[in-house]
Amino acid sequence: MIKKNYTCTVCPRSCSLTVTDVDGELAIEGFTCLRGKEFARNEYLHRMRTITSTVKVEGGEFSRVGVAGSCEIPKEKLGECLRQVYTVCVKAPVKAGEVLLSDVCGTGCDVLAAMDVAAKT
Ligand code: SF4
Repeated sequence: MIKKNYTCTVCPRSCSLTVTDVDGELAIEGFTCLRGKEFARNEYLHRMRTITSTVKVEGGEFSRVGVAGSCEIPKEKLGECLRQVYTVCVKAPVKAGEVLLSDVCGTGCDVLAAMDVAAKT
């Protein structure tokens, strides 16, 4: 038997969740809604994370732009993906939603600008 505890991060209520695995049969406890049950199941079977970071901008009104992934990626790929994101440098202007890095680390996830950065005048 394997027993794992998680804190649900789907909403601010932060329910404490427990997944018990008995020969591949999962029992999930502690959730208040089905989104939390699904969260616990995913955390146990295949943890996924969203890329959030910043990218260097040359010639912009700000020196960095906030970025986010277009989809979730496996948690074990997050460090490798962030290391690749840290190497990116773009020239201003940058438009929100612009793809700054495609298919990061072969995950199929693009890294998008989360805000506009105008060119420095
Ligand atoms: S189980 Fe439901 S209510 Fe509880 S933190 Fe997760 S999403 Fe929120």
